[in-house]
Amino acid sequence: MTALTDLTLDVAAVRADFPILDREVHGKPLIYLDNAATSQTPSAVIESLSDYYRRYNANIHRGLHTLADEATAAYEGARTKIQAHLNATSAREIVMTRGTTEAINLVANSWGRANLAAGDEVIVSLMEHHSNIVPWQLLERTLGIVIRVIPVDERGVLDLEAYRGMLNERTRLVCVNHVSNALGTVNPVAEIIREAHAADARVLIDGAQAVPHQSVDVQSLDADFYVFSGHKVYGPLGIGALYAKASILESMPPWQGGGEMISRVSFDRGTEFAGIPHRFEAGTPAVAEAIGLGAALDWVNAIGIERLAAWEQWLLGHATERLERIDGLRIIGTAPEKASVASFVVDGAHAQDIGLLIDQLGVAIRTGHHCAQPVLAHFGLDATCRASFAVYNTPEEIDAFADALEHVLGMLR
Ligand code: PMP
Repeated sequence: MTALTDLTLDVAAVRADFPILDREVHGKPLIYLDNAATSQTPSAVIESLSDYYRRYNANIHRGLHTLADEATAAYEGARTKIQAHLNATSAREIVMTRGTTEAINLVANSWGRANLAAGDEVIVSLMEHHSNIVPWQLLERTLGIVIRVIPVDERGVLDLEAYRGMLNERTRLVCVNHVSNALGTVNPVAEIIREAHAADARVLIDGAQAVPHQSVDVQSLDADFYVFSGHKVYGPLGIGALYAKASILESMPPWQGGGEMISRVSFDRGTEFAGIPHRFEAGTPAVAEAIGLGAALDWVNAIGIERLAAWEQWLLGHATERLERIDGLRIIGTAPEKASVASFVVDGAHAQDIGLLIDQLGVAIRTGHHCAQPVLAHFGLDATCRASFAVYNTPEEIDAFADALEHVLGMLR
């Protein structure tokens, strides 16, 4: 085991914040290692949701009564917390969405339809989640844009030489994830953004797997669009955000019409849209969930994202060491910079069987294509097992997981 030095995380105290970690699965203590799919929820977030419905549930923005005022203030307060967390210059640059997927679809349908035409090029990487591929493929069908794909090497590292070679005067947008959910690779997004800007292209960063594991500063990155989901960063399901530079958001047309996104509606004098960010938030939003996401970011900040990241890096190192000792096991994704994900396959045992059997021992890992079929195909695979770590995981859990895996492999091989 690697020496544990200078990590002052009190993991027992962290775990005490998560009621679900006390439960058993098939009579065994739950070992939850599916955090890249969704993280568990601390009491502070659960209580913020409960408190909202118990004390001040109301529709926001239009109400003149006290509850509506309180709900509006808390919802807009959550927007400010997201702004601070990403170091955006203004809360006007934060659009609430259902999550990463909806945020990318918003950019594709609003910015994309206004700025892209047949023959324009959008660069994505081979290691994108389907949510950062399919919205662009839809525009390929409707607008005739051209999608170019940054290749990946055998470690799961982007080929930046190839990327540079792809940038040209037709390139309008570059879409890459900050951290790959299938491989764990941390991509050099600052460099990718710099190069795209030099070619006069905009950049969208999918931060779904980065925001939970490291600090993100959209100003120093100079990202044009940055998106993430609340449920992967200890927040509720159904809420996330799009960050976009104010100047870009100002220029974007609405993508959904309805209440909340207008300043006036008239059949005679035309309809006027609200300013940013509300122009992109048609209909009643997920108020409680937004407030819950704000509470989740507060919770993360109370621990400190650097401390959280250091703990997770240590867990990842320990897990990698343990897994590499297992005969016939191959780690998929061996980039020098990785975050919190150990994807692997084992000779003579299918991922699906491993997942089902290890669940019987109380261990939750994910098996399958992780919504990243193109990059798995690159490795000649249709599925991997993926253990992914959060700040409440412990080295003892990783040891128990590795023992359980060896036990399961003994049954399968
Ligand atoms: N991008 C990445 C890198 C992801 O890991 C995920 C979730 N697995 C998504 C996008 C999609 O997020 P959501 O389903 O919350 O919209």
